[in-house]
Amino acid sequence: MRGGPEPDVEPDVLDEIDDTLLPGYEPIEVGVPGDVTPPDQDGSMTLSVVSPDLEVETELVAAGAPGEVTSEDGEGVELPPHLSPSSASAFDHCPRRWKFKYVDRLKEPSGQPALVGTFAHRVLELLCELPPGGRTQETAKALARQCWPEMADDPEFAALELDDEGERAFRWQSWLAIAGLWALEDPADVDVVGTERKVSAQLGDVPFLGIVDRLDRREGQLVVSDYKSGTVPRLRFRGDKIQQVLLYAAAIAETEGELPDRARLLYLGQRIIDIPVTPRRLEEATGALGTTWDEVGTACSAGAFEAKPGVLCGWCPFAEQCPEGLGELRKRQANGNLPAHAPAKALVA
Ligand code: SF4
Repeated sequence: MRGGPEPDVEPDVLDEIDDTLLPGYEPIEVGVPGDVTPPDQDGSMTLSVVSPDLEVETELVAAGAPGEVTSEDGEGVELPPHLSPSSASAFDHCPRRWKFKYVDRLKEPSGQPALVGTFAHRVLELLCELPPGGRTQETAKALARQCWPEMADDPEFAALELDDEGERAFRWQSWLAIAGLWALEDPADVDVVGTERKVSAQLGDVPFLGIVDRLDRREGQLVVSDYKSGTVPRLRFRGDKIQQVLLYAAAIAETEGELPDRARLLYLGQRIIDIPVTPRRLEEATGALGTTWDEVGTACSAGAFEAKPGVLCGWCPFAEQCPEGLGELRKRQANGNLPAHAPAKALVA
């Protein structure tokens, strides 16, 4: 799945993030980081691109959402038509930020890591749609070239204002993510059932919507796989990601009539987190989603969206419009614990 931007937060800063780790998970980790073959011997690479619709799950969720708002005067707002893993996670982290994005529809810039992920996802999607024998790194390079023009024309990419060196670094990061698949598995050996599958399902009381990166058949088992281009989070911060892929499994069961046996997070170039799908895990994941949905409902009917200030205010694009967030930034600035590379630092520096 592609989601909203994941801030490039230093590991020590991550310790302060109140993540929603699901209790009781002991994910099995398989695979080890492997060498990533550079695209060309001299390290250069010229990608070119075109991509069709690069749907992002969060955008799907926002699409069609009513958004007639106004919590400013305490009036309720309409519930969104769906909840996705990323919008649920966004609400859990900070309902105020969720409101800015999903109700007020304020633009949240993607940022380079998210765009790199979007590009890598697109190339891997096209690659895995090919017959197994065609899934080679040479083909992946060709697909990357094919897909580049659309990324280059994307206003979000233009907003990065990269110079030639920056653009080259972007392409290189993208390639490392794409080639990182071979560090985990040989895609030619994968029995792909489907890619980028949009799943809309009723999970308990929750109208769920998401996009499953890949559905595979492995030794008779149905497997949900989700690509991740970011760094593998520490164990205590993996709850969101594990919940996300379990929710995809639950939605696939609803829509396809077959419950996946395993759910996998493919951290490109790093490792696979492989989780057996069990009734208990599904119940916990859908239960947590239901709790968030209830909280979304309460907030929307009251038109009250609590601010949850914390370290991530430093990466919040709406900090300037959020008094609590500005207060948090000032406090951190005064205490010397606002990271120098936090974009919102400029508001209080
Ligand atoms: S600045 Fe902080 S508290 Fe305010 S919306 Fe953003 S994340 Fe939430």
